[in-house]
Amino acid sequence: MQPFEYQRVRDPEEALTAIAAAPAAKFLAGGTNLVDLMKQDVESPTHLVDISRLELARIEALPDGGLRLGALAKNSDTADHPLVRERYPLLAQAILAGASPQLRNAATNGGNLLQRTRCYYFYDPAFEQCNKRKPGSGCAAIQGFNRIHAILCASPECIAAHPSDMCVALAALAATVLVRAPHGERTIPFADFHRLPGTTPQLDTNLRPDELILAIDLPPNPYPALSAYVKVRDRASYAFALVSAAAALELNNGSIRSARLALGGVAHKPWRSLQAEALLTGKPAAAQAYRAAADEILAGAKTYEHNSFKLAMAREAIVRAFTLAAAAGERA
Ligand code: SF4
Repeated sequence: MQPFEYQRVRDPEEALTAIAAAPAAKFLAGGTNLVDLMKQDVESPTHLVDISRLELARIEALPDGGLRLGALAKNSDTADHPLVRERYPLLAQAILAGASPQLRNAATNGGNLLQRTRCYYFYDPAFEQCNKRKPGSGCAAIQGFNRIHAILCASPECIAAHPSDMCVALAALAATVLVRAPHGERTIPFADFHRLPGTTPQLDTNLRPDELILAIDLPPNPYPALSAYVKVRDRASYAFALVSAAAALELNNGSIRSARLALGGVAHKPWRSLQAEALLTGKPAAAQAYRAAADEILAGAKTYEHNSFKLAMAREAIVRAFTLAAAAGERA
């Protein structure tokens, strides 16, 4: 690990001033990903600005029936919050599918949005080629072991997949991210928060280095009862998704009034398809409709030597997630 300077800040203004003062500074909150990356010499910030004592951990109802999740609320506190469990069970389920209880007790909501890919080559500086770690160096995964990598909208520069479970549910729930910039606040729709790799795979998000995440806002949820998160992974716990699916339904006498669908483990960002959701509208809530939605969201998928299994796995995860979502109403 490279030496760094440490500064604890007391309010967002001080945090923004501190981050602006040192070009290679990083915010430190739970540290569950950043500190690992620093130990591996993948990240080498010159300054750590500790924001963990800022008052950004509240979870509170919004006047429109939505919910605000403080950026520094812990993942476990978020999943256990009564309003999250009651109004957004899909989010609680996705959070609890991630990491381990110990990590969820330390990891924050803002940090979850900023966690970096688990591509083996990104994590190991012994590999020279990694455009995300070292722009312009190439991509070792394309010709290497690419079992966990993306099948949708990768680029010749990077085929990494996004690792978060929580973010897949947030994409399906159409969350927005509230950030503090040097000259005021701005709101980023969740679909625009994370980036595709394109020619700049070193950039995971559209958050600027001098901006601080304040909160994640959830709009009112029309799908509180009929939702499910399905995660397929190598072990039953403490493993990243090979593929995951967040599905939610609004039904009217067995017919789909509206639906939400987002996937994890398949792209550089949580992957929601409005077209696949539209295909479901008006159809009977049955496997045939779910398979049509799967075909739509996976159209154009490109697999690599070791990850072609993800295509069939994603299809089945989608069908399973919608089947479980529909059945949740019968159990309620
Ligand atoms: Fe690096 Fe992306 Fe290639 Fe992995 S897939 S080696 S993160 S450039």
